Amino acid sequence: MKTIALVAHDGMKTTLLGWIERHKTFFADKTLIATGTTGKLISETLAQPVQCMASGPLGGDQQIGALIAEQKIDWLIFFWDPLSSQPHDPDVKALIRLAVVWNIPVACNIATADFIIHSSLYRDGYARAVPDFTAHNNRMRHTHQP
Ligand code: PGA
Repeated sequence: MKTIALVAHDGMKTTLLGWIERHKTFFADKTLIATGTTGKLISETLAQPVQCMASGPLGGDQQIGALIAEQKIDWLIFFWDPLSSQPHDPDVKALIRLAVVWNIPVACNIATADFIIHSSLYRDGYARAVPDFTAHNNRMRHTHQP
């Protein structure tokens, strides 16, 4: 069962909800996690439970980022608003960064989201490569020995 994280800034919520509504059946058997307001709206739109984090500006983006770092998210659908500045811009940047760090498919617009959900890869049991950060984690080992 795929776990999909969804986030939409206020200016993009209508766009995300419209897209989700058009793909209702696709989402029916997925586990959905979202930032607070986005999640509440998706849950109403799909009549399906959504695990809601805090609202994005109150820490929800960071909570989703933490779940990505814990390998608990398969895809991120993140409709950030390119035409307005956000009070939590550092969190927005951090969330996108963690999706890239952990090689999570991430869609920031409808076209990419369409490509992801229509891809045959997920039906074929595609397993994304989880990056190996052993070298990073061990990088200070030999320089700081007592
Ligand atoms: P919201 O947060 O779903 O609580 O509106 C989204 C965001 O701005 O990151």
